[in-house]
Amino acid sequence: MNKLSIDDLKKVKGKRIFLRVDFNVPLDANQNITDNTRIKAALPTIRNLIKRGARLILVSHMGRPEGKRDESFSLKPVAEELERLLDQHVSFSPDVLGPIAQSAIDCLKDGDCLLMENIRFYPEESANDPQFAKEMASMVDLYVNDAFGAAHRAHASTVGVSKYFENAACGYLMKKELEFLSKLVGNPPRPFYSIIGGGKIKDKIKLVSRLIEISDKVIVGGGMAYTFLKVKGFSIGKSVFDNDSLKIVQDTIELADKLKKELLLPIDHVVAKEFNDECTFMAVERNIPDDYIGLDIGPKTIEMYKNALKGAQTIFWNGPMGVFELKNFQRGTFEVASEVSKSDGITVVGGGDSVEAINRIGMAGAMSHISTGGGASLEFLEGHKLPGIEALADQ
Ligand code: AMP
Repeated sequence: MNKLSIDDLKKVKGKRIFLRVDFNVPLDANQNITDNTRIKAALPTIRNLIKRGARLILVSHMGRPEGKRDESFSLKPVAEELERLLDQHVSFSPDVLGPIAQSAIDCLKDGDCLLMENIRFYPEESANDPQFAKEMASMVDLYVNDAFGAAHRAHASTVGVSKYFENAACGYLMKKELEFLSKLVGNPPRPFYSIIGGGKIKDKIKLVSRLIEISDKVIVGGGMAYTFLKVKGFSIGKSVFDNDSLKIVQDTIELADKLKKELLLPIDHVVAKEFNDECTFMAVERNIPDDYIGLDIGPKTIEMYKNALKGAQTIFWNGPMGVFELKNFQRGTFEVASEVSKSDGITVVGGGDSVEAINRIGMAGAMSHISTGGGASLEFLEGHKLPGIEALADQ
């Protein structure tokens, strides 16, 4: 997928650039940023354009303020964090349109950086309102999108504004995401193994089918494994499962059989009677006793999964193997994370929780690519066209 990138924009000095970034970072109750990964991921693009003398107008969403101004979703703390990371002043505009925004843009000098308030304070953003997009486009000279995490949404800032620019380009983060994810769905070095975990089977079951098609082996862990095990006739006690997904899970198992692809499921579990760290926990074999909940893959499964990853030339991992937020149930996730990090092949990790697990064991640097765009990467891998990418110019 060869989209125009910022390297193809030859004249950026003095130009006002609308740079769509994904600064949708988590905040605690005191408005402190608890994980700045997404801000850091946009730095290479921001730094490059600053160095080349562009005048940056950064636009992002945060959370779901539902088209209303809500200070708890303000990007002000992000401006401060960005200023710290860039070690240069970042100005902030409380409006994205109108006289305040215009004067903030007019004050920019070459190499300056301005962050606009949360674009989702405006209902026109999610509605992809043409007038709103046109007005924003009229305030700038160039359009760059580096918000891969928002590329699956056809919003004003991801699609509407881009239409006014023949040379709408991607930033380095978007470029890297496209490069790695295209490789996974294109022609990855084989064998290619996928690991999928996490809690929400409804959100990910389509991806499991797709991974069965494109990879050579699929390893399933986390909460979603229990719906598979139930369909296969095992007792799952009080573990999470999704009654509505039984049929699609059955179809997925049949797809793996038909394509002769290995679909690995846990052979033992770490269980407890309650969802907390205080409760007694233990390892059990495949069938879970009636009043227990499966909260992590068991030691035999860990060994099996680690062996199953040996020799991989490509690994894609999305979703934890257990409730890794609780210390009694984090071993499966951390051991799998560590095995992935040892691979000599291409390693792509996607999904906030798996990324957090990798960060917690300090292995982020050992991965070929960490995808910051949860929903967008899943849709891309499922084979959907992402509107935010389609809107960019081809090289
Ligand atoms: P997802 O966003 O789908 O990747 O899900 C991540 C969440 O799945 C994490 O918060 C985990 O605690 C949760 N999870 C992982 N394993 C289990 C499990 N066995 N039972 C319930 N939730 C789980």
